[in-house]
Amino acid sequence: MIVVMERGASREKFEAVCRRIEELGYKTHPIFGVERTVIGCVGHEDKTPLESLETMPGVEAVVPILKPYKLVGRELKKEKTVVDVRGVAIGATDIVVMAGPCSIESEEQILEVARAVKAQGAQFLRGGAFKPRTSPYSFQGLRERGLSMMRAAADETGLRVVTELVSVADVDLICEYTDMIQIGARNAQNFALLQCAGRTNKPILLKRGMATTVEEYLMAAEYILSEGNYNLVLCERGIRTFENATRFTLDLSLIPVVRGLSHLPIVVDPSHGTGHWRYVASMALAAVAAGADGLIIEVHPDPAHASSDGPQSLKPTKFAELMQSLRRLAPAVDRNVP
Ligand code: PEP
Ligand code: MN
Repeated sequence: MIVVMERGASREKFEAVCRRIEELGYKTHPIFGVERTVIGCVGHEDKTPLESLETMPGVEAVVPILKPYKLVGRELKKEKTVVDVRGVAIGATDIVVMAGPCSIESEEQILEVARAVKAQGAQFLRGGAFKPRTSPYSFQGLRERGLSMMRAAADETGLRVVTELVSVADVDLICEYTDMIQIGARNAQNFALLQCAGRTNKPILLKRGMATTVEEYLMAAEYILSEGNYNLVLCERGIRTFENATRFTLDLSLIPVVRGLSHLPIVVDPSHGTGHWRYVASMALAAVAAGADGLIIEVHPDPAHASSDGPQSLKPTKFAELMQSLRRLAPAVDRNVP
């Protein structure tokens, strides 16, 4: 349910309504809009009706949320969300580029990539220290040593860090080093991990599961917001289809579909989405043309010797060419590449 407060309703009235909602067994999620305040009430709506709140002073209306997801939907919040990651705004006019290797491999590797991508205008350094590999025999990541190398490289170059959390047990360690927590495709429906991420104070990048529908994906996002963490960015990274000419099928139609349903920013990962460096630039440009708020791209100084995802990683020179093309394209869709 959404409780819509009257325009200019006092703080006391707003607080009294919140107290009443909580007494009735619901969690309150207030949204302070330009025009008025609305309060999202989340709980077991079939148990206690909330219509009676309409009689409270300061309340204009109590309206049901029809979609199964409540907090991520446009019904509750009409304006687009802008997520701030230590001064970098995701969801505003600027296209935010996150770039770096699939895995952190060494101090030299991560610093070289950081310098190269920063020079081209990337704002985030990406890289995995805990890798969710399909095979238990594949490289699993450098763990804390890797996190520390990435933090140092990002600080030296003035980049933000985004890295993946794969287990609830590592959350404090990841939070110590990162600016934004990535939840990977393989964990998109790991509800305990989503709740754990929702309880941190870090912005979250939630990748779409390779077999999740838009509704399932938005329900996964709802797990994070329902814990009180509203700083969530969605990420399309390709889904499984019958097509095997590419590693996954990058579903760019998610962008307009989710735009209509949700206020959350959306970035696109053309690296995992295609699985081959040759296709990355085309799909990155297409993503921005389709309305993406940002991109996450794998870049490696020596893809042939990468510990993971070499075939889909761009060399720094190719990344630089892509950034040039993005700069030309962005104004055509009223965006800017800083
Ligand atoms: C990654 O970003 O390196 C990664 C493992 O991504 P995904 O979860 O989308 O497969
Ligand atoms: Mn990867």
